[in-house]
Amino acid sequence: MTRRRRIYEGKAKVLFEGPEPGTIVQYFKDDASAFHNKKHGIITGKGVLNNRISEYLMMRLGEIGVPTHFVRRLNMREQLVREVEIIPIELKVRNVAAGSLAKRFGIPEGTPLPRSIIEYYYKSDELGDPMVSEEHITAFGWAAPQDLDDMMTLSLRINDYLTGLFLGIGLRLIDFKLEFGRLWENEEMHIVLADEISPDNCRLWDVKTNEKLDKDRFREDLGKVEEGYQEVARRLGILPESGPNDLMGPKIVQ
Ligand code: UDP
Repeated sequence: MTRRRRIYEGKAKVLFEGPEPGTIVQYFKDDASAFHNKKHGIITGKGVLNNRISEYLMMRLGEIGVPTHFVRRLNMREQLVREVEIIPIELKVRNVAAGSLAKRFGIPEGTPLPRSIIEYYYKSDELGDPMVSEEHITAFGWAAPQDLDDMMTLSLRINDYLTGLFLGIGLRLIDFKLEFGRLWENEEMHIVLADEISPDNCRLWDVKTNEKLDKDRFREDLGKVEEGYQEVARRLGILPESGPNDLMGPKIVQ
């Protein structure tokens, strides 16, 4: 592996300069964090699985016309993506009450919501990602009204598509988090889906048993954390061929 310039290291991924201008390599780590970085851990094989799961979901979304930053998977832990200017807003799409929404409004976890709800959070580790309104986003210039409109429309399409896809493999898509970026092509700016879609940022429950098969197993110390991620990959039909015992993948080169 060649030496590459490290651009950024986040909680679950490292970004390296890509092979061509305008590209980035996303390296998926096994590190897990929760509760605004207060809880840390390692979920063995998570990076390999999330790399595959996110590849699969981004490709399916691309096929239905959702623009994404994804180019191709490079190896067990890395994928090539287009370099975009990340919009500093996290969109949370919710179908069923869980997590912070259940707590904030005192709604029992698992209660279906009357309709899908989209929330916005300002990406800031120092501030603990505060929830913000459209007014804040446009007034502070984090995104233009048209950007927000595009992000919301895309999020609802993604939600409709992924809800059906997961239902087909016996999983309920409870909620998930999305990030978008700006991509310039021929003087034109497009809003594209960025980051990753994986059990790190989706809540997925088994349809029959309500068993949680996502990062809540880590957050809530439910045990069998690795198995949750493996089960999602298995149902999607993308468990690495060598099986769950070979999920370490290549080591990071610094
Ligand atoms: N989520 C995420 N990153 C965060 C916080 C939440 O990807 O920093 C995801 C989380 O996995 C869940 C959805 O966003 O699928 C809604 O999360 P919630 O607001 O309930 O926050 P949590 O209680 O998980 O912190």
